[in-house]
Amino acid sequence: MFIITERQYNIIMQQAQACYPQETGGILGGRDNTILGVLPIPNKHLYDRTETFALTPEDIETAYHFLVKHNLEYLGVYHTHPRGTPYPSAQDLSHNQKYLFIIGLQDRYNPEFFAWRAEQGKIYSENIKIMSDYGATVIDIHTGQPKLSQSASQQQLDRLADMIDEIITGHQPQYPKLDATHWDSSSFSTFA
Ligand SMILES: [Zn+2]
Repeated sequence: MFIITERQYNIIMQQAQACYPQETGGILGGRDNTILGVLPIPNKHLYDRTETFALTPEDIETAYHFLVKHNLEYLGVYHTHPRGTPYPSAQDLSHNQKYLFIIGLQDRYNPEFFAWRAEQGKIYSENIKIMSDYGATVIDIHTGQPKLSQSASQQQLDRLADMIDEIITGHQPQYPKLDATHWDSSSFSTFA
């Protein structure tokens, strides 16, 4: 089971939308299966960026410094499947990662965020819980836009709490629609 804050979940989802239909991704760091740092990485695959998310040795270097600087453990790579389901491809599994985080955008505005654990040639689904993060952004239920929590109404905060409860109890959550936004790949977020 993994825990991610809403703020970091939103960063990943905004990146996924901004880069659509190209595949994109990054590195997740954390402690005890809690995701505390998200490092988006621009896709360097020059030939067909709708099919593959590629990391360069430079990216690995950047990720290493990011994790060391914030005292985080490496949890894994996340990437999108812009036209697909959030299941690992044979190529994804060939990288011998313990965990794979995949965002399926087959239904673009209802992204599916899945974590997988690979163990002795088999893959298992890991739950992901989204924790509320009142210090950062919440989603405005009417416009679907991220909004500062300072200006959020109690109603909106309750709605957010309901969404998290739905996730925790295992119901399929309905994610708010997000418009594509400008994505600055040099920005990243960490709580560490
Ligand atoms: Zn993949």
